[in-house]
Amino acid sequence: VAIKRKTVNRRVSQPINSYLSVLDRVIAEAAAAEEARKESDIPQQEVTKNVWLTKDNKTWSLEDLDPDTPPPPPEKSHPFDPSHMKDFEDASLINNLHEAPLLYLLLRRFSEHNIYTNCSDVLISVNPYRKIEGMYTDEKIKEVYDNSTLEKPVTLSPHVYNIANNAYSVMMNGVSTRDSKENQSVIISAESGAGKTEAAKQVMKYLISASRLKNAENASEDDVDQIQASLMQSNVILEAFGNAKTLRNDNSSRFGKYIKLRYDESYTLRGAYTEHFLLEKTRLLQADKGERNYHVFYQLLAGLDDATKESLHLSDPADFSMLSCGETLAVDGIDDRSEFELLAASLSTIGFAEQETSDLYALLASLLHLGNLTFKGDEDGGRTTLASNSIPIDKLSSFLGVGTMALTDAVTVRNVRSGRGSIMSMNLDESQSKQGVNALIKHIYGNLFAWLIEKINVSNASNAHSSSFTSKAFVGILDIFGFEIMKYNSLSQLCINFANEKLQQQFNQQIFVLEKELYAKEGIPVDVITFRDNQAVIDLLEKKPAGIIPLLEEQSLLSRKPNTSQLISSFDKPHDGKHPNYQKARFGNDAFVIKHFAGDVQYSGDALIEKNNDSLHDDLKILINNSTNDFLANTSTDFKREGKSGYLVSVNDFTDHDDEEEEEDGANSKTKLAASNTVTSVFRSQLSKLVATLTSTEPHYIKCIKPNSSKSATTANDELVLEQLRYSGVLEVVRIRREGFPIRLSFKEFHKRFEILCFKDDFPAFRKATPADNEAAATFICEKCLDPNEFAHGKTKIFMRNGIQEKLLSLVQNV
Ligand code: ATP
Ligand code: MG
Repeated sequence: VAIKRKTVNRRVSQPINSYLSVLDRVIAEAAAAEEARKESDIPQQEVTKNVWLTKDNKTWSLEDLDPDTPPPPPEKSHPFDPSHMKDFEDASLINNLHEAPLLYLLLRRFSEHNIYTNCSDVLISVNPYRKIEGMYTDEKIKEVYDNSTLEKPVTLSPHVYNIANNAYSVMMNGVSTRDSKENQSVIISAESGAGKTEAAKQVMKYLISASRLKNAENASEDDVDQIQASLMQSNVILEAFGNAKTLRNDNSSRFGKYIKLRYDESYTLRGAYTEHFLLEKTRLLQADKGERNYHVFYQLLAGLDDATKESLHLSDPADFSMLSCGETLAVDGIDDRSEFELLAASLSTIGFAEQETSDLYALLASLLHLGNLTFKGDEDGGRTTLASNSIPIDKLSSFLGVGTMALTDAVTVRNVRSGRGSIMSMNLDESQSKQGVNALIKHIYGNLFAWLIEKINVSNASNAHSSSFTSKAFVGILDIFGFEIMKYNSLSQLCINFANEKLQQQFNQQIFVLEKELYAKEGIPVDVITFRDNQAVIDLLEKKPAGIIPLLEEQSLLSRKPNTSQLISSFDKPHDGKHPNYQKARFGNDAFVIKHFAGDVQYSGDALIEKNNDSLHDDLKILINNSTNDFLANTSTDFKREGKSGYLVSVNDFTDHDDEEEEEDGANSKTKLAASNTVTSVFRSQLSKLVATLTSTEPHYIKCIKPNSSKSATTANDELVLEQLRYSGVLEVVRIRREGFPIRLSFKEFHKRFEILCFKDDFPAFRKATPADNEAAATFICEKCLDPNEFAHGKTKIFMRNGIQEKLLSLVQNV
């Protein structure tokens, strides 16, 4: 049988598109050929060989092929395989899996409203941007739950509920094939707007229902109902204070969270505990055009009654610079007023007394008023004075529980203790005053957020019936920002990408383990696949003493006058030309490049040190610490241990005094105090705690994908999706597969496909092979035609290296 090769006479500049459109054509041709074959009784043959893609620096090009041109060598090409056309529910069943067929499968399914696809144990979810009928119903939950209780559960279509159910089942029963852990994590990481938070909510919804279904006969329903209500209320609060409208998502979570659902001995849900990471505090002061500040401020202005608003000197969002800077006050589809009512109800259910709630509102109002303060400098170096304010300053200070003088002093003067113990007062200029106020706003809101979460945790832990329960096991749900490459990358990206490197390392390990299990099951030695560890880049970022983050922290503490080029050269010196993941920036000396697993990212060193110094200067700390506003004093604990008297020198945030004097002062105590306060050090310790928790749990992965940037339910952008597949690490699953024996054909299928090769040599035994001979025939063909390292003989299948099927097919042609 000769397989006809068709010439594809074009080169295409949109490479992935080209593969997709060629595949479309191949499918149409294959369907037509199959029709013709049926009509004319021609034996079935492979539809293959007419599409080749070469891979060159991550770009794809379509090779012009005619029958006389040999195909490109396997290591440079990604050949077409008939399985690329099939609508698998699990992408790992695709033979010769590479980027193009994976992308094609996802997009094809997306267009048919199948937003979920498995890739081995990983669930890929493509944001549908619309409600899909019947997708998240109680019936669906029951179907998944009931199936899991059967002795022989069937394989259900991919769904987020399956993942949630896996977590629940593994927690209760373990998995027989491996040493699984009792505590579970569902890890959802993706870019903004991809659907992480929605997925997390669905996982939670399933777990709540499953607990209820499991214990239907017990009298514990009340508990679960209570937890469900409590979780929903906490979610309202978290989203009001932690979510905002951005260009990419109208309800974007500006913090990461890990929610532990805790179970008792009978695996009934009894409580929840939330940890949070990296709240974006810069948003408080500056939202990009088209974006908003945190929802809660707009809710407050839309929802408070007139009398309260008047007493808080609140008016319209447009009157507050914190709210108007993004030039977006309202969002289509968001009703701030009714959201406010929800918030108020939630606060009260969570346990806020009336007075506490009004204190909270007053504090939020104070932040808005602080944001409106502007200053006028004194030309002769005297004190700056207030230039404008939206509330009388004595009123503002009474809200904050501080003296009027204390407030104005704290924002216009700095007291610095010299090395010799004397205290010097320095007048601040206009911009220093504004900076101080801004730092105050960020500090108060950050602490407020953390305090709210603690409050929520207390409420979610102590339900009427649960007060005495001890937690037996938990399912944690991680909803955290994915890898980011922006035009301008700074401290947030550094932290986020560092976190993603850590998560990726765990992911790789897990996938690698799964693949190894599959090989072991088929009796194939497992050393054929290698594990590509990203430990090197993690070390580059965090390892002391020369890691980028330790160096940044050191500079944050030591340099009196933050100096970008000095910082960058401290990175360059140990790493440039020495570390494979580090590169000097191509232009200028105020940036550096890290080669992350997902791509190269150039980070700007500009203001990196300042951004990393999150602490208030001491006068402001003391101001807050002396506040008579209980709420404020309660939310701001980090200065307590230093006592209220005496001024501490924060090494770097004041620059104009006598350097030498301070050098004499032992830097140790100062650095110790400040070291725990940099953004990176706080995040690093949170992250290492998180990683330790994740490591101690059995992971379940959901990778969300955003199909387009326009929130459209009907369009998909190939390049955008491909990029996310790369960032998400899903392609690493693909790589691990490619590296081993990615083509797996059952003996029967192998025999059917390559039967003709039995005629190649004089081996009549297989000419009339019966089905029972499949394994022997397959073995014979492999041994005759292939090198021993090109295939492996499993228990039920022949495993082949990448490109080896093509070698067999070309032998077929020449028979
Ligand atoms: P961010 O990182 O900005 O918080 P995210 O990944 O959490 O983004 P979501 O807020 O979960 O994204 O989703 C963004 C929007 O996409 C949702 O508000 C919703 O409109 C839509 N969406 C996401 N997932 C689904 C889904 N499964 N079904 C229907 N719509 C969805
Ligand atoms: Mg979110």
